[in-house]
Amino acid sequence: DTLKFADINEGLESTMVILNSLIQQGIDVDKNYGELPAIECYAGKLNQVFLNILTNAIYAINKKFQNNPGGILKLETGLTEDESFMYISIADNGIGIPSEIREKIFEPFFTTKDVGEGTGLGMSIAYNTIAKHNGKIVVDSIVGEGTVFKLIIPIRQII
Ligand code: ADP
Ligand code: MG
Repeated sequence: DTLKFADINEGLESTMVILNSLIQQGIDVDKNYGELPAIECYAGKLNQVFLNILTNAIYAINKKFQNNPGGILKLETGLTEDESFMYISIADNGIGIPSEIREKIFEPFFTTKDVGEGTGLGMSIAYNTIAKHNGKIVVDSIVGEGTVFKLIIPIRQII
């Protein structure tokens, strides 16, 4: 993957297209994309991060709602007030993450899923990729209520 100027909203949207078949199982998707400047980034790697976080969100929703309606996926992008960072927020109302494991989810091979359901690499890849873009990941979660992952990335990239 090479460094290039890319539109993060487009990246998120093209990742959502890949997941559309999964989401047709009755999950409501609420998108609120703000206006973002193109940033110099490893766009393919960032799309992989979106895919990893969204896949986990859908899994968490399906685990809670089984095949019943009620799942909500909320995507939001925008700039921080001083416009020096962009944020990408991905929220689900799935099973949530117990506080005891909140720190561990970024470790390679950490998974709570059964064999064959997860490799435990998705969030470790996300962590490394966002760190490479000088950004950070903030997690908020309530067990039984849901989880919010917020990626915060500087607009001006020095990679
Ligand atoms: P995997 O999905 O293969 O288990 P990940 O690195 O993607 O590995 O995620 C690690 C763990 O973090 C998951 O097994 C799960 O316990 C937890 N997790 C991540 N995202 C969510 C989420 N949105 N809701 C609930 N748990 C999550
Ligand atoms: Mg995963």
